[in-house]
This record gives sequence, C-alpha cells and structure tokens, in this order.
Amino acid sequence: MARRPFIAGNWKMNLDHLQAIALVQKLAWTMKDAGYDPKGVEVAVFPPFTDLRSVQTLIAADRFPLALGAQDVSPHEAGAHTGDVSAAMLAKLDARYVIIGHSERRADHREDDALVGAKVHAALQHGLVPVLCVGETAEDLERHGASAVPVGQLKAALEGVSADAELVVAYEPVWAIGSGTPATAETAQEVGAALRRALAETLGEDAAERTRILYGGSVKSGNIAGFLRMPDVDGALVGGASLDPAEFAAIARFEKHVGV
Ligand code: PEP
Repeated sequence: MARRPFIAGNWKMNLDHLQAIALVQKLAWTMKDAGYDPKGVEVAVFPPFTDLRSVQTLIAADRFPLALGAQDVSPHEAGAHTGDVSAAMLAKLDARYVIIGHSERRADHREDDALVGAKVHAALQHGLVPVLCVGETAEDLERHGASAVPVGQLKAALEGVSADAELVVAYEPVWAIGSGTPATAETAQEVGAALRRALAETLGEDAAERTRILYGGSVKSGNIAGFLRMPDVDGALVGGASLDPAEFAAIARFEKHVGV
C-alpha cells in the first residue's frame, strides 16, 4: 500500500492571526508557482489556536491545497476546563489533524502517557486525526538507545484505540528539535521500523501498513530528501523551517529537488 507523504508545519507559539494570513497566502502562492501537486504529497499547517479561524477561512475561500491542524486538544468533552479547547471545537473549524504529545507539551505541561492517550481518544471521537509525537531525550538515547522510549510512548498512547483508527505518528528525538542537529536518516529509519512493528503489535498489520510515520527535528530543505528515501519515513513534522514559506515550500517539493 502506498502511503502519501505528509509534510506538516508546526508553527508552535509564533505568529498572530494577521501574520498567519500573510504566511499562508505566501506559502500557497509559492507552492502553486512551483507546480505543487497535492496527489503526490499532503501539506498541512498547525497554527496556534488564535489563528485557526482566520487560516481556515482563507484556505476555504481561496481553495488552497493545505490541510489544517491544531497543536493540542483537551482530553475533556466540554465544561469547566478553563483554557482548554475541545476536539469538537477543532472539528467544527474543519481542522483535520491535531498534534498530541509534542515533547514541548510533555516537558512544559508535564503531560504523561496517560494524558496523551486520553487526548488521542478525544481526538478520534470527533473525527480528528492525531499526529502522535514520540521521542527520546539525549539521556534516554544514552541509556536505552533510540527506539525503546518512542516505542513505549506509542504503545501507551494506543491503549484502547481501535484497529481502524486513522492516526499519524511523528518520531521526534527531543535532542534534535530546534537544535540544528537532526538525527541521521538511518536512525530515523531504524526507529520508524520499530514504531511500525509496534503499530502491528497493537493495532494489527493493516494499520501498521497504512499509518504514516514522520520524522521531526531540525528538518530543512537540504536534509529532507535523505529522510524521505527511507522506507519507514513517510514525511516530516517541521518546526522552525515551517515559519519561512519559501523554505517550507522547498521541503514540500522534496521529490522535485532531489529525486527520491
Ligand atoms: C517540532 O517542533 O516539532 C520540530 C520538529 O521543530 P524543529 O523543526 O524546529 O526542530
């Protein structure tokens, strides 16, 4: 089964809604000029909550070939959870994806595997596709190697998830995020293969075969092709470089500029 490559831009806590509109317009024009074909690769942006409505309106009005995602979701349905944003609210905004378990949330907000799992369930219940982030710290890497922690995080988050659930897994070594030092493509492949085996054990072979596994951590236009050549890397979750429309569009064009 062919998995459509997926390039996802995580803006983190950057850009107000006016800046977001400007970036998305520039990104869409750059991709159009470069002959972007959505059949070959899916591109999504993940703006902060305050930008979602503006970006969604723009994408819908101008029919930009971009999917929309949020950076987090509440595990709760509704009610007395000040500051939280529910999966139902995101679904109503035509968000298709939601990042869950990003290492910055695991660190800044002490999100553990149980909370990450609850968020995955909340997202799936409302038809959102979780982009489930897993990854090891530098200390984990030294102690346990690259795969053990991400595989453990994945299995924990998938408890009780049904075999037909659609999700995306992002392998993001914590030490590679924002550091300018990405993992090697070989390490991304090794962990990607281990994550796919874990998907087969938990959700079955079909789910393992169809689920896209992304690499994230200091991805740039100059290194994306090496990752996408790997059989168990189906795309990238891009942080810093997604804030530069020309650079992000170049990442999305990985097939053209290097010939995978
Ligand atoms: C991220 O935040 O998910 C990420 C991969 O960041 P960066 O690309 O900046 O390393």
